[in-house]
Amino acid sequence: APAAPDPGYDLPALPGMRLDEIQTPALVIDMAALERNLDWMRTFVEERGLRLRAHAKTHKSADLARLQIQTGGACGICCQKVSEAEAMVRAGITDILIANQVRDPAKLDRLARLAKRARILLCVDDPGAVPDLSAAAVRHGVTIEVLVEIECGAARCGIAPGAPARDLALRVAAAPGLRFSGLQAYQGSAQHLPTEAARGEAIARAETVTRETLRMLGEAGLACDIIGGAGTGSFPFEAASGVWNELQCGSYVFMDADYRRVLGADGNGFEQALFVLGSVMSRAPGRAICDAGLKCFSVDSGLPVVADRPGIAFTGISDEHGHLADPEGRLAVNEKLRLIPGHCDPTCNLHDWYVCLRDDRVEALWPVTARGKVF
Ligand code: PLP
Ligand code: MN
Repeated sequence: APAAPDPGYDLPALPGMRLDEIQTPALVIDMAALERNLDWMRTFVEERGLRLRAHAKTHKSADLARLQIQTGGACGICCQKVSEAEAMVRAGITDILIANQVRDPAKLDRLARLAKRARILLCVDDPGAVPDLSAAAVRHGVTIEVLVEIECGAARCGIAPGAPARDLALRVAAAPGLRFSGLQAYQGSAQHLPTEAARGEAIARAETVTRETLRMLGEAGLACDIIGGAGTGSFPFEAASGVWNELQCGSYVFMDADYRRVLGADGNGFEQALFVLGSVMSRAPGRAICDAGLKCFSVDSGLPVVADRPGIAFTGISDEHGHLADPEGRLAVNEKLRLIPGHCDPTCNLHDWYVCLRDDRVEALWPVTARGKVF
């Protein structure tokens, strides 16, 4: 018989355990909050006749991707890397946009093989990318759908909008094994701008160049099924524009301390559903130390924030320690703390498991299916 799972070694918890029995630090999901976030977004896109293609790079979880598709109103998911998509297809997800550039011929070959088992779409931003992609699709007898990615303000990937984008779309449409399916117009640098006005201005600029490109595509006789883009910070603007029809929000499922700061109390409709559960392990006058440090949190967007406990602040971090200011000496050793990650996506990639909690009981454990799938 297989050995029983060993909480604390193989797993941080078992279903049915109480919150205080979870081995910490552990990545935990408040399932009720997660479900409210999923419902909120499903209602938002349904009411507006938009599609949601939820970005799975946030959670890298096949269980959550399935929930987004089955009950969260998503038509499919985005992935950022081929290996991430492979993990999702193996787990049964069948409609995936790689919302990114892929140029290595070996990766394109893997992508074409994946297209035998799922609908696969890829972004392209360079005419020079078309021959290798087309060859891979032909070699495996599949069709790969292509979104022409335009540079719309973030100075990341993307071909210049207008004529260069149109010419690339014509080239894709003419290439064997490829189908031109639309535009990728994601304005990444708008997402975390600190005011609604600044986010709105950035998306207005992206809208202008996207409209102009769509006009030129229309003149060239090319239909554009998908106009994709938008993230958790900016999607109300893309949705209101009448230009975008497929939203790619990712962080909305979980939220993080940085999005909570920039989006304010309303959080664009979303509440905090992701925490790292830590335990106090040492005390001194005015401060305490918990067991969750840099190996549990990405701190690129700031330190974690302590939930539920006014007066306690997360003030510093080292590899395996979190530093807490506790001026009134409220914390006790072994006390559990819900800590809100500064940035959700890279934090999730640091953990093997989600501990799913409902009413402070462990309901399920979900693997971080595509953890480390960054190639
Ligand atoms: N679409 C693309 C192409 C992205 O790169 C990202 C995130 O960086 C998103 C959507 C989703 O962003 P968010 O997690 O802010 O919702
Ligand atoms: Mn992010």
